[in-house]
Amino acid sequence: MCDCLFCQIAEGEIPAGKLFEDELCCAFYDIDPQAPTHFLVIPKAHIGSVSQVDGKKEAVVGHIFTVIARLTRELGLESYRVVSNIGEQAGQSVLHLHFHVLGGRDMTWPPG
Ligand code: AMP
Ligand code: ZN
Repeated sequence: MCDCLFCQIAEGEIPAGKLFEDELCCAFYDIDPQAPTHFLVIPKAHIGSVSQVDGKKEAVVGHIFTVIARLTRELGLESYRVVSNIGEQAGQSVLHLHFHVLGGRDMTWPPG
């Protein structure tokens, strides 16, 4: 079994509040939500972070953004934030590419 948490969630080996899944990616609610709506979208195949995206992996990243547009539309979110933390200093705690989608409250800029 892979020891990556998000690979295990993608494979269904660890339960998560999934709101969408297809052959390339899945979306599930963050276990520690930072906004009224907070879910993560991940590729099913392991990619460490945005830093590891290359020409072979760009299609799945584009697909993830199509899924984000569809899910937020279905959830009625007109304004929201998409965030990906890369590396320790930026606060990445799970080393599998994921995009946070946060909405449902006022947000400040710059982020902390
Ligand atoms: P990051 O800190 O940017 O790497 O984001 C990782 C996110 O994964 C955090 O917001 C965590 O709350 C979330 N998380 C960790 N474990 C789980 C889990 N089992 N199910 C859902 N979300 C999780
Ligand atoms: Zn992984």
